[in-house]
Amino acid sequence: MISTLRVLERIQRIDLEIRAIEEEEKRRCKVIEELETELKGTRDAIAAVEAEAGALKTQIKEIDEKIRESSERASKDEKRLNSIKNDRELNALTKEINGANKSKKQCEQEKSSLAAKLDEKEALFNSRQDLLKSKEEELGRLSGELEANRGGWKEAIDGKLKSKDELTKAVAPEILRKYELIRSRRSGVGLALVKDEICQGCFTHIPPQVYIMLKRGTDEELQSCPHCHRLLHVEDKGQLEAV
Ligand SMILES: [Zn+2]
Repeated sequence: MISTLRVLERIQRIDLEIRAIEEEEKRRCKVIEELETELKGTRDAIAAVEAEAGALKTQIKEIDEKIRESSERASKDEKRLNSIKNDRELNALTKEINGANKSKKQCEQEKSSLAAKLDEKEALFNSRQDLLKSKEEELGRLSGELEANRGGWKEAIDGKLKSKDELTKAVAPEILRKYELIRSRRSGVGLALVKDEICQGCFTHIPPQVYIMLKRGTDEELQSCPHCHRLLHVEDKGQLEAV
């Protein structure tokens, strides 16, 4: 069983290496996905601020129209001043001119406050555009890196699977099945190291008699952890021979 264990150790190492590559790929895909979500959010925010700026521009246009009307009314009234016949008419006309001027002034104040708001929106729009640009560049860089790595990763995994295939020939099918089953259920680890009577897969104590048998390594059957059911091995060959 020692030789089977040694082969399983190598198989386990290969499986973990493959898993590390797959997780690296997954991790990078996740970063890209998150960035894509962020980009969508930024684009939505840009569209929102654009709509707000558009609404402000419309309001400013309407106010400009009001200002123009008030100016026109005031200058028309001022021309009429020359043809005034009595005090009553003068009073009425003066009142109208004042009203037109007052309304014009109010409109101008309103316009300047809207223009300030528009400036703010435009500044916000520009800063969000810059942010979008930098995020898009980042996304391009990350996607490029991912694509560039994929070929190498696939090649590495294929090579490792080939080595694993070779190794599995030396392991009895029922042992391999057991190993694969546990591995699939226990975070990719089917074979756990035991150190000082502690299973390094689940970090619980294993019974002393199991530990002794493991160290002897001469038994017909492989030992399993009573807690996590992983197949067990002890590491040091020198230590094994010393027992
Ligand atoms: Zn365990």
